[in-house]
Amino acid sequence: MERIKVAVDIDGILADFCYQFCNKVNEIYGIKKIYHNYDAPHWDLYKWYDELEKVHIDKVLEEIYKDNHFWETIPVLQINNSGIELLKYIIKFREDIHITFLSSRDGIDVLLQTCKWLSRVLGENTSNYNVVITNEKIDYIKNNKIKYFIDDKLQTALEASEHCIVFKPKYLYNQISKDDSYVLGRLREGNLEEFLLYVLDEVGMKFSDIYWFFEYYRNKK
Ligand SMILES: [Mg+2]
Repeated sequence: MERIKVAVDIDGILADFCYQFCNKVNEIYGIKKIYHNYDAPHWDLYKWYDELEKVHIDKVLEEIYKDNHFWETIPVLQINNSGIELLKYIIKFREDIHITFLSSRDGIDVLLQTCKWLSRVLGENTSNYNVVITNEKIDYIKNNKIKYFIDDKLQTALEASEHCIVFKPKYLYNQISKDDSYVLGRLREGNLEEFLLYVLDEVGMKFSDIYWFFEYYRNKK
């Protein structure tokens, strides 16, 4: 059986990178401003703090690079909790779908930290997914015939639409403007849950397959 190949970005989709970054800034400079991925004002984090110069942000990035727990202790992006539950279901039960976590993060032991974090968040069932750390996400998607992909970075989402169906959650820093070019119909706006439901629908999901999922969330409310 040919498995459907799905790629999922980590920061801004599963993990609240912005929160962890702001925490680091607070640790170093004592500035208590916290952004989350959904309310950070700009993609360029050099523009987040009026009180800090480029050299200060560079210092933060350097400290992050040297920190061998930064990526391991990053908080889950709470607004995507239901999507993460659905991801756990796919990893545990759907042998027709293969997930690749595709990230461009950087730092000491970044792959090890990321794998530890994923197995903590998603459960120990690690045989159904792989983790790829690369700055060349588009090449990876092309060369590995990824069919569905979700990423919060606008430029990556636009370019990926040349090769697959791509979802982009709608945050302040990644709005599509009229000058952006992408393949019509291939770039969609939606969060992790909407993305995974779309993929499941494409592979012929029956509602009864994931009935428990909706029950679980109904009972939680
Ligand atoms: Mg991201």
